[in-house]
Amino acid sequence: MDTDLFIGGKWLPSSAGDRFDVLDPATGTVIASVADGTTADALAAVEAASSAAAAWAATPPRVRAEHLRRAFELMTARASSLAQLISLENGKALADAQGEVAYAAEFFRWYAEEAVRAFGSVATAPSGANRILVVRQPVGVCVLVTPWNFPAAMATRKIAPALAAGCTVILKPASDTPLTALAMAALLAEAGIPPGVVNVLPSRSSGRVVSAMLHDPRVRKVSFTGSTEVGRLLLAEAADNVVNTSMELGGNAPFLVFADADLPAAVEGAMIAKMRNGGEACTAANRFYVEAPVAAEFARLLSARMASLVVGPGTDPATQVGPLVNPEAVDKVDSLVRSALSAGAVATTGGSRLSGAGCYYPPTVLTNVPPDASILREEIFGPVAPIVTFTAEEEVIRLANDTEYGLVAYVYTSDLARGLRVSEALEAGMVGLNRGLVSDPAAPFGGVKQSGIGREGGHEGLLDYTESKYIAVTW
Ligand code: NAP
Repeated sequence: MDTDLFIGGKWLPSSAGDRFDVLDPATGTVIASVADGTTADALAAVEAASSAAAAWAATPPRVRAEHLRRAFELMTARASSLAQLISLENGKALADAQGEVAYAAEFFRWYAEEAVRAFGSVATAPSGANRILVVRQPVGVCVLVTPWNFPAAMATRKIAPALAAGCTVILKPASDTPLTALAMAALLAEAGIPPGVVNVLPSRSSGRVVSAMLHDPRVRKVSFTGSTEVGRLLLAEAADNVVNTSMELGGNAPFLVFADADLPAAVEGAMIAKMRNGGEACTAANRFYVEAPVAAEFARLLSARMASLVVGPGTDPATQVGPLVNPEAVDKVDSLVRSALSAGAVATTGGSRLSGAGCYYPPTVLTNVPPDASILREEIFGPVAPIVTFTAEEEVIRLANDTEYGLVAYVYTSDLARGLRVSEALEAGMVGLNRGLVSDPAAPFGGVKQSGIGREGGHEGLLDYTESKYIAVTW
């Protein structure tokens, strides 16, 4: 496959001639070497995106839609090889990678359907003197920065609505997982997307190349998915040229189980909310709050399920939990677990790192976790489920909201009124009510508080790549 930069429809080496290695996290071996984009390359990509912008914005929405539909079909036809590639560079289990390809492709299909629905509005001014006409126009050249945990889906969740709205883009993928992004570039070119509309710029100098682009006046939007820490930096950088921002940042999802919940369903939901992607998801349940009468039984059932998972290389079809993305990720999970254990938590399964090669951490359940433990405050990003017991609804809402994050929360109860009341009280952009999975290309995904700004997916995801233009008109 091509491993150079993709700029203006061409595969180009780095202007400095540099390359960097991509590693298999299961073995630590080098699987590819990729061109390392420089600031000069970044500005060349902005030039390509800017040159292509007017023609792409003027392309009939139906034509843009059909290119996106073709991308969906190509991606679906290549699902198996793309899943292998994701699993190889990211480490996730093949079943997770297959799920990601289907989810990622769906953004092309959904936005093929939305491309023809960027409706504006018309109203009579309250004075009756004129009409208020509002049209939706593409925001312009967009810089898209994506993380390693969903290398395909985080890219398509941005590229598809941007293209549907008539914008051109430069995608800067995570350095741990650039190969999937480059495969997407090739696929989009094959789907007929004109040169310059989509550019892909792997780079190890992320800070420098993104900063250079955000200070180029031709760039009008940055859409970022990644850590809150880097999101804050990009918000500050974007302020200089007042660049439009969308931020999909970190999470610290609470998972609430009330005593009246269907317990087997809650355990099933917990497995999905915790273990999708081996726990390396912004939506991952990070803290389990279980009402006292069912806490011991929930812990027992969850521990049994977690203990039964098969850990191994992601590319082995028998594997249910692959390695974490890199050695630093294992160190972080290990230190959070050790600190919880030394504060009095008990591991009912797992609880210490595995010996041998590869970035593996075993599925772990912790009970007796003190409410102030750091594992409840930080994003774990690994296969660890800390459980805290609660006794009252108001108490658990307070505990759940006691975080600067607000991406997603999960609630299990068989009392519908309570479920809706608690869902409204939780400070989160999304709630899974008796469901462990919320991600859906047709729904607005995003967070409140320090988990982000803006929404991806659904109709709102399209509007995020448009500006409203108001025309006051007398007719
Ligand atoms: P990260 O370290 O913030 O990196 C994300 C992206 O930003 C990567 O492409 C990275 O490039 C780039 N980057 C790093 N420093 C930068 C800088 N100074 N300026 C510009 N770009 C920079 O996050 P990650 O570790 O890849 O991903 C995990 C995080 O993403 C978690 O916090 C997770 O919750 C969050 N996430 C959120 C969502 C959501 O929808 N809310 C979805 C998925 C993940 P390099 O790889 O080259 O460093």
